[in-house]
Amino acid sequence: MDSLQYIASLIAKSPAWAQDLEKFAREHRVPIIDQISLQLLLQLVRLKRPERILEIGTAIAYSTLHMHEAVPDAYITTIEKNEKMYAIAAKNIARFKKSERIELIHGDAAEVIERFPPEKTFDFVFIDAAKSQYLRYFQSIAPHVLKGGVIVADNVLFKQFVAQPEEAPKRFKTIVKNLRMFNEYVMKNEDFHSSLAPVGDGLMISIKRT
Ligand code: SAH
Ligand code: MG
Repeated sequence: MDSLQYIASLIAKSPAWAQDLEKFAREHRVPIIDQISLQLLLQLVRLKRPERILEIGTAIAYSTLHMHEAVPDAYITTIEKNEKMYAIAAKNIARFKKSERIELIHGDAAEVIERFPPEKTFDFVFIDAAKSQYLRYFQSIAPHVLKGGVIVADNVLFKQFVAQPEEAPKRFKTIVKNLRMFNEYVMKNEDFHSSLAPVGDGLMISIKRT
């Protein structure tokens, strides 16, 4: 057993609702956040205790509902572009009766964010949509993040290829190139304290300084 398997063996079994969604994700090949990254994401959410969360990339609302469970009083806005995913997410959110705290928006996240009025602010952002667009998401949401607010981005090491771009198959070259640009931009950005945690598929954790 390696360390990751060991950690996984220590994580408590998911609640029944989450097991349902995990099964659905497996059967329909929907990429949901891995368990160890999820634990860290939820721990950050619990530490920060945000009032308003933005999630970019809902899929079936698996991470959305977990964040809701971690901070039930927080208002969560979550954006999904794919029509089928949006419909499934809407059903899941309604089924678990969380609709009054969770706002699900159908649309391209970059476009939706660029239409946010300046006074729309968040204190926690989870980026988990199109990997090639992370930089655009980050730059467009940064002005809406309050001082001390947190931005977490998933999959920034993308299957180990980000560290070893020469190993990436052709179809991943653009994603890998763009994620490398994203990681460099964020780590150098003086408006944020950032830390890249090699957890799961790579989690970039940024805290806004001003
Ligand atoms: N956060 C989810 C998984 C999201 S998977 C979880 O961990 O449970 C990534 C999702 O982002 C997919 O459903 C995909 O349709 C969506 N997506 C991709 N590009 C997008 C965009 N430009 N705007 C909004 N959603 C997007
Ligand atoms: Mg992800």
